[in-house]
Amino acid sequence: MNGPDDRDSADIAGLRPETLAVRAGTRRSQFQEHSEAMFLTSSFVFGSAAEAAARFSGEQPGNIYARFTNPTVAMFEERLAALEGAERCVAFASGMAAILATVMGLMRSGEHIVASRSIFGSTVQLFQNILGRFGVETTFVSPTDPAEWEAATRPNTRLFFVESPSNPLTEISDLRALADIAHRHGAWLAVDNCFCTPILQQPLKFGADLVIHSATKYLDGQGRVLGGAVLGARALMEGVYTFLRTAGPTLSAFNAWVLLKGLETLGPRMRAHADHALELATWLECQPGVSRVFYPGLPSHPQHALAMAQQSNGGGIVAFEVAGGRDAAWRLIDATRLLSITANLGDTRTTITHPASTTHSRMTPEQRAAAGIGDGLVRVAVGLEHPEDLKQDLRRGLATR
Ligand SMILES: *Cc1c(COP(=O)(O)O)cnc(C)c1O
Repeated sequence: MNGPDDRDSADIAGLRPETLAVRAGTRRSQFQEHSEAMFLTSSFVFGSAAEAAARFSGEQPGNIYARFTNPTVAMFEERLAALEGAERCVAFASGMAAILATVMGLMRSGEHIVASRSIFGSTVQLFQNILGRFGVETTFVSPTDPAEWEAATRPNTRLFFVESPSNPLTEISDLRALADIAHRHGAWLAVDNCFCTPILQQPLKFGADLVIHSATKYLDGQGRVLGGAVLGARALMEGVYTFLRTAGPTLSAFNAWVLLKGLETLGPRMRAHADHALELATWLECQPGVSRVFYPGLPSHPQHALAMAQQSNGGGIVAFEVAGGRDAAWRLIDATRLLSITANLGDTRTTITHPASTTHSRMTPEQRAAAGIGDGLVRVAVGLEHPEDLKQDLRRGLATR
């Protein structure tokens, strides 16, 4: 690996994100393959007993066993680290495994998390129902009000956890403000950057300590594999890596290879997702029967200015409220022909979902009302089809009201 001709992994300083997404992290074997090789092996051999000992003691760098190192996985980690501007990336089998590893690697029983109320459903369940059983408590607060975060901190608070924009209402959190509060209280800020990807937003630049990804979404971008990642400073990542090495929620070499290929098109894909989403959101605002559109790229979004200061565009997720509640929303969804009815997102294919009865159905009606997730709310994760065809499909749905 890493021969003298290895120009792809040469100096990446100053390269732009679209270039890093294609080039960073590539390491060639003795065969000088152009595309990255997939190393399907569970373990690695040593030249001698002494070399094995040196490898195990950490004296000699190199691969030992694929639970904790694999050259294909390492290429994915290096490429994503370059994109996020992070010292180190550790890949995981899924986004949830990455979130679990962050907490298990950095926290201990008796410590406390402050988290946004508007985070991924399984993350809420993990914090509340699983970590709660092990003595790690979580307080949920508003994603848009830093004063609530300040008020929720305790002497034992170790972690702030946020997603921006949130799902499905695209609320924007002030990452710089949250990082400052966290640091004043001796806590780390972790940002789940799944919706933006590093092409749109690099949380470390705003003072975040950790970036978390579900690579299952936009990083793959084509709905093929599960994956996850945690990124941050080298010292902080040591605990996260130790958890991976010991507990084994490892990304497979095959999935890492698929994700490397996914990253190569991330720049143009994210731009197209956002262009299509802005066009659709602008159109939806003018449709009779649509009472409200939620999209950070629209000037009507209450936090448009903050979104544009943190993100290079509005992203690919659009939510809108139809008059007539659940029945109207379901009729609209059922009348579409092209859009996929699924809660997944970050795919070339546009997906449509009714949050109140799917992703957010575990909340009580009162909790949903407090969070602003109405029965008429529909979420569209805009794909790469032609926006005119998406409008035509939704027009059919809107006509059924
Ligand atoms: C999907 C998702 C996750 C979980 O990722 P998996 O790869 O499905 O485990 C976490 N956070 C956000 C924002 C997600 O959309």
